[in-house]
Amino acid sequence: MAELTIMQLYPRDMNIYGDWGNVQTVAKRAEWRGIDVKLVEHNPGDTFVTDIDLIVGGGGQDSGQDVVAEDLQRIGSELRAMARDGMPMLMICGMYQLFGNRFITREGHTIEGIGVIDMETRGGPERLIGNTVISSPEFGDVIGYENHSGLTYLADGVAQLGTVTLGAGNNGEDKGEGARVHEVIGSYLHGSLLPKNPRIADHLLGVALRRRNSDAVLEPLDVPFETRARETAQTRPR
Ligand code: GLN
Repeated sequence: MAELTIMQLYPRDMNIYGDWGNVQTVAKRAEWRGIDVKLVEHNPGDTFVTDIDLIVGGGGQDSGQDVVAEDLQRIGSELRAMARDGMPMLMICGMYQLFGNRFITREGHTIEGIGVIDMETRGGPERLIGNTVISSPEFGDVIGYENHSGLTYLADGVAQLGTVTLGAGNNGEDKGEGARVHEVIGSYLHGSLLPKNPRIADHLLGVALRRRNSDAVLEPLDVPFETRARETAQTRPR
């Protein structure tokens, strides 16, 4: 039986608005296909385990980002190498910001990122909150919920995850949302993201499986309540 190990980065400090649901979704969709899943957590101070297939990180308060920042620098070179090597990763909101070059908070305090994604975030004057829909070339309509004050600007040439149809996205100005580098997906969208957007979950799973076995095929799944959840989320007012 195929086996995948999924790591959640900093679940103690970076896990709000149900971001843990992203881990549960990939795990469940793997299990439904008969793939054995092992879940591991990495919290500050833990020995960083590298024999993993997929890394998922969530959002948090600025204070939570401060708590993990030092540990993230400690493991940053390993994460950069894994990203370059094509490991699939999903980083939401606060962890998305820290996968960039830096986050300069509204108080002018800089939290260093690890530069997996060439981008910078600055604390903005208001919180950008609400249901969000973006259009992604690969995943179609992506539905989520955003709540951040950080405004993220991608460097030239960095691909966004999608274009905002409803909501603010990276910075409320350029209509971009999220970023994609190698097989790393960064996004502001909570919700959690993956239960409402199973195509992204399956993309991450497919990449993880094919890194273990290039012939691996991910069987399609038809889960009607996912479609209903997407439809409902899309009709919710901002
Ligand atoms: N603290 C960051 C911000 O407000 C991230 C918020 C989050 O992860 N929801 O921009």
